[in-house]
Amino acid sequence: MAKPLRVAGEIDSWCTKCRLVLNHRIVSIKAGKPHQVECLTCRSTHLWRQHAPGEKPAASPGGSKAPRAAGGASARTPRVTPAMRQEQTWEKAIAGRGVHDFKPYSVTGTFREGDLLRHKKFGDGLVTRTVDAHKVEVLFRDESRILAQGMT
Ligand SMILES: [Zn+2]
Repeated sequence: MAKPLRVAGEIDSWCTKCRLVLNHRIVSIKAGKPHQVECLTCRSTHLWRQHAPGEKPAASPGGSKAPRAAGGASARTPRVTPAMRQEQTWEKAIAGRGVHDFKPYSVTGTFREGDLLRHKKFGDGLVTRTVDAHKVEVLFRDESRILAQGMT
């Protein structure tokens, strides 16, 4: 199933620039795993990342069982929680967007539904609703927030 790893071989990796899981070329291998990879789409070289940030691998390779967490929280079956759904929506909105698609957020700026913005503290966000001339609802990775806009 798994192709043997070799430098210059191809592998799927999360691209930190394209923000998508894309085909990459292995630049270096460390401890039997791809270390650095080159994105075949944007040609950037970065560390190999099997999954999108925040995504958990479906199964741990190697068959070593993780010690069971005390307390009985069932972490075995991943269920789609509202938080995960929100993150998926966020990821879809952000995926493949370039740096220039994001407006730097400031309270004096004005934003419309569908705008992408970059907040110094909260990170990348998608404007989901214009509340009024001075408020917008923005979906960030962790949660939606109401931000001020159009202040003078
Ligand atoms: Zn890329």
